[in-house]
Amino acid sequence: MLSGEEIIDIKQKLVSHIETTFPPEQILSAKSQIESMDSEQLEKFLEKNNILVNDKEEDSKCVFCAIASEKIKSVKIGENEKAIAVLEINPISKGHSIVVPKEHLDEAPKEAMHLAKEISKKIKEKFSPKEVEISESKLFGHAIINILPVYKDENLNSEKQHATIEELEKTKEEFQKEEEKEEEVIPVEEVEKFLWLPKRIP
Ligand SMILES: [Zn+2]
Repeated sequence: MLSGEEIIDIKQKLVSHIETTFPPEQILSAKSQIESMDSEQLEKFLEKNNILVNDKEEDSKCVFCAIASEKIKSVKIGENEKAIAVLEINPISKGHSIVVPKEHLDEAPKEAMHLAKEISKKIKEKFSPKEVEISESKLFGHAIINILPVYKDENLNSEKQHATIEELEKTKEEFQKEEEKEEEVIPVEEVEKFLWLPKRIP
């Protein structure tokens, strides 16, 4: 049986998880569902959803640890030894991504910034935004790096759109699609050479 304190604590964690991962239009009803649960319902809910509350690991508290360890489904577009890059589930613009360090750290390791720069470069090539803004932020004590393609005047405070996993998978496909080989263009000099005909000798 959960104690009153545990219930409050667990509900708080679930609510903050809902706020960061649910589609905006579902947040309110999901939150009120959680809040209206009594101890027994809450226990059943946790059991059904495979949520371990006694797990003292950071994973159980921090949504980014769960993303980094792939316990939460996300659309991964890059990875190195210290961080993974995923498409933002509530993107502000097309290609909006976050780099999540694999460790629960206050500051993103330099490898995470390298990954962010790689992703940013590729976004520029693939989606041709005006620019790509890279900025570090921290949520639940976990440093992350935002990669925001700017097409008009978007910034991190602009309205977020909810994307489904299918939509994000499509964006990922575009992002990873190999450049189609451009038709070989023959340099002008070559064409001239080709067209060159010996002058007629009178
Ligand atoms: Zn974390």
